Amino acid sequence: MSKQILILPGDGIGPEIMAEAVKVLELANDKYSLGFELSHDVIGGAAIDKHGVPLADETLARARAADAVLLGAVGGPKWDTIERDIRPERGLLKIRAQLGLFGNLRPAILYPQLAEASSLKPEIVAGLDILIVRELTGGIYFGAPRGTRTLENGERQAYDTLPYSESEIRRIARVGFDMARVRGKKLCSVDKANVLASSQLWREVVEQVAKDYPDVELSHMYVDNAAMQLVRAPKQFDVIVTDNLFGDILSDEASMLTGSIGMLPSASLDANNKGMYEPCHGSAPDIAGKGIANPLATILSVSMMLRYSFNLQDAADAIEKAVSLVLDQGLRTGDIWSVGCAKVGTQEMGDAVVAALRNL
Ligand code: NAD
Repeated sequence: MSKQILILPGDGIGPEIMAEAVKVLELANDKYSLGFELSHDVIGGAAIDKHGVPLADETLARARAADAVLLGAVGGPKWDTIERDIRPERGLLKIRAQLGLFGNLRPAILYPQLAEASSLKPEIVAGLDILIVRELTGGIYFGAPRGTRTLENGERQAYDTLPYSESEIRRIARVGFDMARVRGKKLCSVDKANVLASSQLWREVVEQVAKDYPDVELSHMYVDNAAMQLVRAPKQFDVIVTDNLFGDILSDEASMLTGSIGMLPSASLDANNKGMYEPCHGSAPDIAGKGIANPLATILSVSMMLRYSFNLQDAADAIEKAVSLVLDQGLRTGDIWSVGCAKVGTQEMGDAVVAALRNL
């Protein structure tokens, strides 16, 4: 039976980078007889323009029916002034929540060819390959009650709530352990258990889950220390598992270790490894339409999709190898360019990956 992939290019550079990723996906589909059927729809600003909402019900239904979703990026100045509830980013939050995509995987891999692009010294980041597993549908971003109230003295006070249930912690901990098991077998759980009740439960449940993974070495770290260690000695980490808020911050920090956000893919998975795959960056309105955006994060999101939703390790490896070969050839988009390399546009970069993959 064919496997359905829904393509949602989104806004800004989304359609440009997606066109290149689709070329790579179509070649992989033919070359390895993967049996994928692709369909396209709109999300974000493009959906607001077409349907008046950032995620139409029929698009959500198609996403539910698909085996995986590949997304570009959403948002842009055109929609910045519209009502908060129907802004482009709401479409993204809604599709993640409605599909139950609680497990966000964000690898931070530094290609050796790009060591100079990192703001850290090459010896600290050379060979970096870490994976941050972030809980995506719980915690303080969704907790109730939240709001602003007026105190007796007339001063306003704002408050949020950070709830985590045992089952929410258990399922994301399992994702962390499962990932560590097929990588370097080291899992670091990041929390703030010296202060937060939710973190104390987090630590307790992670310890319980660890009993099912005797082959994985578990450690715990407070989030403030983890933020420091990520810039001091990032290669000490293999897989990090953490909550929604800490993961949001730490994964952005880790992404910068690799030099450019234009290189970083991500996956968001449900309990059955059905997933949505997207680059970590946004819609980059400042460079949209210029044909200079880096398509590699989206192309690498295709490889994550093959790996995690379809267990097609060889085809996923081949796409990553093709990207590496193109970097070996010295081809660079502007965001990763350095002296001595050839500056190319979005389409040229996509074509080069296609050519490299075809020749593998
Ligand atoms: P951004 O990631 O879009 O851009 C930040 C900077 O990185 C810009 O200078 C941009 O040109 C550059 N950049 C990003 N991707 C690049 C690529 N592939 N190649 C080369 N350069 C790249 O973040 P922003 O400027 O804060 O946000 C712009 C819009 O994107 C906003 O509307 C925001 O809400 C939205 N956004 C969407 C997502 C998403 O769809 N997942 C994520 C973040 C931001």
